Amino acid sequence: MARRATPLIAGNWKLFKGPAEAASFCSALAARLGAAAGADVVVCPPHVSLAAAAAALAGSRVRVFAQNAAWQETGALTGEVSPAMLLEAGAVGTIVGHSERRQQFGDTDETVVRRAAHALEAGLDVIACVGELEAEREAGETGEVLRRQVGALAAALGPHERLTLAYEPVWAIGTGRTATPEQAQGAHALIRGLLDVPILYGGSVKPDNAAELLSRPDVDGALVGGASLDVESFAGICAAAGG
Ligand code: PEP
Repeated sequence: MARRATPLIAGNWKLFKGPAEAASFCSALAARLGAAAGADVVVCPPHVSLAAAAAALAGSRVRVFAQNAAWQETGALTGEVSPAMLLEAGAVGTIVGHSERRQQFGDTDETVVRRAAHALEAGLDVIACVGELEAEREAGETGEVLRRQVGALAAALGPHERLTLAYEPVWAIGTGRTATPEQAQGAHALIRGLLDVPILYGGSVKPDNAAELLSRPDVDGALVGGASLDVESFAGICAAAGG
């Protein structure tokens, strides 16, 4: 099975922290985390703050990922940023297919696959997000949704060594409602049967629930939104993961 040697804790900053704030946050985070290497740590600033974050984290063990990437390098794609541009800014990976992109900016299974495929080809690590809406879970459609979303990625990409999935039940993102460890484990086991790559859990992960979620056998790390915006709470989650 494709598992990580150490858990991955990735902080998705969403639309927070411009360059100056990103730089001071990253300096403080690097100092707070020190050299302990029990977890791999990633921050995902807005595009405009990638270079500042990368500069502030140079020489540290914290890596910088983007929150989205275009499916081609250049062209008539107003508002998009390509993998080569992200690499030049200091990012070494990217999130694709976050539910906020799917719901508010028109990303589909097809465009998520295209974004992931091109980012991998360009040399970036990729965290591809999947997850069901609350209505879909209540209707008993979680398995069907995950099979569709993960199936599209599996068919196009297979178990690529730089591909990680994030299971993010949409009803748990930014709501303070976390999937139970059993719900997370059940979804992760289903996903792993479709595509054997490391799988992060995301959805209201906090310092006080991280250890229990991360203890489940198919949970390889966490994608953290709100709690990644504060050095102490993000460091607390990294500590719960062993680093
Ligand atoms: C996310 O943005 O991917 C996320 C999981 O957010 P939160 O931790 O705030 O629920």
